[in-house]
Amino acid sequence: AAKEHERGSVRVCDDELRAAATTRLAQQNALRRAIDRDELVLHLQPIVRSGTHSLAGVEALVRWAHPEHGLLPPGDFLHVAENSGLLRPLGHWVLGEACRQLATLRAEGVVPPSSTVWINISGPELADPELPHRVHQATAQAGLALDDIVLEISERALLDEANGRLDRLAELGITLALDDLGTGRTSAADLVNAPLDIVKIDRSFVLAMEEDLQARAVVLALLQLARAVGARVVAEGVETDAHVVTLEGLGCEFLQGFGIGRPVPRESLARELGAATAR
Ligand code: C2E
Ligand code: MG
Ligand code: MG
Ligand code: MG
Repeated sequence: AAKEHERGSVRVCDDELRAAATTRLAQQNALRRAIDRDELVLHLQPIVRSGTHSLAGVEALVRWAHPEHGLLPPGDFLHVAENSGLLRPLGHWVLGEACRQLATLRAEGVVPPSSTVWINISGPELADPELPHRVHQATAQAGLALDDIVLEISERALLDEANGRLDRLAELGITLALDDLGTGRTSAADLVNAPLDIVKIDRSFVLAMEEDLQARAVVLALLQLARAVGARVVAEGVETDAHVVTLEGLGCEFLQGFGIGRPVPRESLARELGAATAR
């Protein structure tokens, strides 16, 4: 009976695996078509300077305008891209589109000429030796300079990558930001060795500050760590006026979050910025 059961469960497992593989393949094909058919869209979220709340830049956040399922957040499809070699074409599209959108927003006078576009770079993209060339190309084609963009690197990418890759980008004059500080395993030594201009404190710490005095102390410690390595700090997930007051009091240079401005399509950014300054 045990054998029977075993055989049975093996068969079930086999079927499940086949079904899962089929779904995965279907998802990958759908995403590949989406990239080709321009179904991806970028939303832009304001990043402002503390105190004045003047616009420093916008973070480009990818979405998939799925013909059946509607607007999908990156959490729904980036993993599909990651497991199928589609991260590079996706990242390539994001890079080009983000640069074009910043150029348009500047030309329209929606954002100040000094403002930058912040682009998320995944680990596999960072590992791509073509990345510096692609960045060059994307900025040049949009009529931008290399210091018009900020590349956001995850902690995981920081660990995976020889710092040489980051050094190469930094030498080109590209501003580098460490994303989601506090969620990964970056050591102080990693931070000291990486050529980081900016660190973004993950929103989980900002959220925790409300109820938890210890969380406020942790945010302060992260700020001091950033200072020690010569980086300026963005607080992510700024949702309330109390967050703004606390973070400005702690000396955080930049603020980002729903309380400052939501991620919106380029056409809606002017209105979103109006709302942000009116607050
Ligand atoms: P991230 O880079 O840390 O981006 C911030 C995420 O937090 C965004 O989610 C944003 O919508 C959300 N957010 C911003 N302010 C607030 C707030 O005040 N409260 C809350 N609850 N959430 C806030 P989103 O757009 O779903 O993106 C999730 C992640 O997907 C990003 O995290 C980033 O790691 C990745 N991602 C997004 N776009 C791209 C892209 O073009 N390329 C790559 N490689 N990754 C991307
Ligand atoms: Mg980011
Ligand atoms: Mg982030
Ligand atoms: Mg985050």
